[in-house]
This record gives sequence, structure tokens and C-alpha cells, in this order.
Amino acid sequence: MMKQETQKEKEDKLKANELTEEIDTPQGIVNFLQKRHGVFNFSPQPKRYSVTELVGCQRKSFYKQSGVEQEEFQNDLTVEGMWSAVRGDFLHNMTYAYKWREMDMEYKVPLKDGSFATVAGRLDMYDWKTKTVIDLKSTKFVKWQIKNGFLPKLEHALQVQCYDTMYADYLPIENLNIVYVDNADIVTYKVERRDLTDWIQNRIQEIEDAKEGNNIPKGEASGLCQFCKYQTKCFNEGDGIEHTPLSTPKKKEAEDE
Ligand code: SF4
Repeated sequence: MMKQETQKEKEDKLKANELTEEIDTPQGIVNFLQKRHGVFNFSPQPKRYSVTELVGCQRKSFYKQSGVEQEEFQNDLTVEGMWSAVRGDFLHNMTYAYKWREMDMEYKVPLKDGSFATVAGRLDMYDWKTKTVIDLKSTKFVKWQIKNGFLPKLEHALQVQCYDTMYADYLPIENLNIVYVDNADIVTYKVERRDLTDWIQNRIQEIEDAKEGNNIPKGEASGLCQFCKYQTKCFNEGDGIEHTPLSTPKKKEAEDE
């Protein structure tokens, strides 16, 4: 049976209500949860790219760089949803294994018109003893994904190769590792080193040229399309996603009224 509330408990509750007010979750926590879900919100500045964009679909990057409004998912990620998906998932604490962790970098890329683009990246871990760049990917069913050929992913390999290129002037680097973890398993891949200076420059130049001439690049459809917020636009423009889009344009306020 529920215990009767005492007068003091009632008064304390009232005081607590007077003293407190529910507000939005602090932005730092939202950013953190979004990052755990692969959503990166680097400040939208012209010619500013993230490593994740760079190694992903060029069309998606073009849409983002051109300021195309993002669509929304039926069950868009709420802070609560994101939290429930990661709670108890403290795998990211693994990055504390190294003192050199979560290092930011802005890498300048010269463009043919004489200006520069910026690539922003964040390195998960760096082991200075073995001069190893380590990227942590927490996911589900690691062993199953490996067995079925879903891991390791090309974009993950490109990502650490980008870090190698971007951090080369600041850190001595000899090895590149990707560590896949789930609640039960941990599997590490060593990635071949490659200087991606030209590759990065070409990728960005391609998008800058596309913006200039408004030539929409072909979509690079993959399993990642399901997380893309330009699916309807991409589908309608052809040469991109072929399955039913999961994101749809946001409803305009006028339509809501
Ligand atoms: S839906 Fe897929 S192919 Fe189309 S822009 Fe998004 S990621 Fe690229």
C-alpha cells in the first residue's frame, strides 16, 4: 500500500517545484548523444566539411553544402530516444584508455580558385608509444556483421586514412586501427596507410564545382541511405536512392495550421 505523504514531504515538493524548472537538455549532452548516433553538427560554414561527410555520399554532401533543408523521419531521433538507445552503453569510455583522445583538427584544403576549404575532424584516440591512430566504432552484432561482410566498412577505413593525412604535420603516425566493439566482442582492424591529400582535395573540389554549376552529383547509394535526411529529394532527382524514401520534407507551418 502507498505510504501517506507527510506534511513535510508535501512542503518539500512544493519548494522543489518553486526552485526548479524543466528546461531543454543542455546542448553539450544533445551533441554528445547525436555524435554517438553518427550525427555531426559542425557549424554550417561555407566550404567547411567534416571527415564523415568526406567519406560519405557526394550527393548528400552537395545537398548539405548547398543549404538544402533536411527532411525528417517518421520517428525522428528524440533526445529521449537517443538516450534510451545508448544508456548502459558505456563502450565509448574505451577512449579513456588513452590520454591522447578526442583531438580536434581543422585541415585546410586549397581550391582551384585560390580559396581554402576546411575539413574538421576529431580523432578518437592516439597511442603515442606505438604511434597509432585508433578510431572506435561501437555497433551491434560485431561478429555477425563481420561474418556477413558488413564490417569492416570502406568509409571507416577512409576515415582513418583521412586522419592520417590531416594529422601528419602534428603527430608522428605509423599505424591506423579501427576498433569495432559491441557489448560482447571487440575486434580491431589495422588499416593500410595511404596519403589522401589529393583524394580529399578532389572530393571537395568536385562538390564546390557542382555547387557552382548546380550539377547535382550522382547519389552513392548504400546502407547508410537509411540515415540520410535528403531521401525524398534524392529519389525524385534520380540516379540515387532507389527504395522508398524514409525521410520526407518537413511540413511547412502554414500547412500545419
Ligand atoms: S539517399 Fe543515399 S544516395 Fe541519396 S543523397 Fe542520401 S546518402 Fe546519397
